[in-house]
Amino acid sequence: MGEAVKVAVRVRPFNSREKAEGAELCVSMDRNSTKVWSRETNYEKEFNFDYSYWSHDGFIEDPTTGVLKKDRPGSKYADQQMVFNDVGVDILNNAWEGYHVCLFAYGQTGSGKSYSIVGYGPNKGVIPIACEEIFNRIKNSGNPLVKYDVKVSMLEIYNEQVQDLLQPPERRVKGGLKVREHPKTGVFVEGLVQQTVSSYEEISQVLDDGNKHRTVAATQMNATSSRAHTVLTISFTQIFHEEGTGKPLTRKQSDINLVDLAGSERASKTGATGDRLQEGSSINQSLSCLGKVITALAKKSAGGAAKGEVIPYRESKLTRILQNALGGNSKTTMIAAISPATFNFEETLSTLRYADQVK
Ligand code: ADP
Repeated sequence: MGEAVKVAVRVRPFNSREKAEGAELCVSMDRNSTKVWSRETNYEKEFNFDYSYWSHDGFIEDPTTGVLKKDRPGSKYADQQMVFNDVGVDILNNAWEGYHVCLFAYGQTGSGKSYSIVGYGPNKGVIPIACEEIFNRIKNSGNPLVKYDVKVSMLEIYNEQVQDLLQPPERRVKGGLKVREHPKTGVFVEGLVQQTVSSYEEISQVLDDGNKHRTVAATQMNATSSRAHTVLTISFTQIFHEEGTGKPLTRKQSDINLVDLAGSERASKTGATGDRLQEGSSINQSLSCLGKVITALAKKSAGGAAKGEVIPYRESKLTRILQNALGGNSKTTMIAAISPATFNFEETLSTLRYADQVK
């Protein structure tokens, strides 16, 4: 134990606009260390995470010596498969052992959260690769006494309201779905669709529909989907049968939660007012609550929590919904996505501080 939370940091390459503007780099990586600096304020800070992923294809100027080098020795130039091999495989292994798992992508809008966890086109992220792998493993399990049940649900939390993404937008519930607690099975979202899937093609179709609903709903609310948290839950059950009689004996159930968090940028910095300000404050509240919950749980699992200390799940819808998965028998991974450009230095520093705090 003690390894309850793993943190990976991933820097995206400069985008074409940044390249055209000659954006300056403010990040470097060397093995597990990530350094950020601001020349303007003469500030430099180094962090260490379980994994650090370099995707920047330019030269790096060493902040101390000013020497230009192509990539740092030892830093991983990470493609999607490498991220999956480190992070995704672990998640699936844990799920097979019956742990609940959570993967969060954290970072400012445009930093690469969706790229890492969903992916774009042929550059599949952790979710599609994991889904493919789940059905490959099932097909190749070679044990006729184990049967599998896979169900998916997909929801979004916008302004502390929960909506079902597997329902078309016209069926959205005013005020959002209710979160309730069952005395035996714990917290659940009332009326949330759980779709049974039996192949990669089926699950891909469900996820595509969910993603489409996400965009339509965001447009209707005059928002962008980056202002909502998206939670995909794969409920994975192994049912073990008795040899000879074929009767079901025991089962192992795991919730695999894959969470694309709302952009972490500060509302005050973006000059937001009205609806945007409201969005920003509920995002900040739920992200800070998530940080508190993960930190409190990590402290508890290390035996450091004061007796009777309350874990603040109830302070946000996100932590409340993930309560079963985060507490108890669970493993959590966070991918902190960052921009390489000096322009985003403040947000990058704040993302790295957040990731450092939950580690
Ligand atoms: P977010 O979900 O945080 O708002 P996106 O994942 O949409 O950000 O990323 C913004 C842009 O940067 C996208 O065009 C995406 O393709 C690109 N991008 C992000 N991360 C990477 C990466 N590691 N390698 C290549 N392109 C990336």
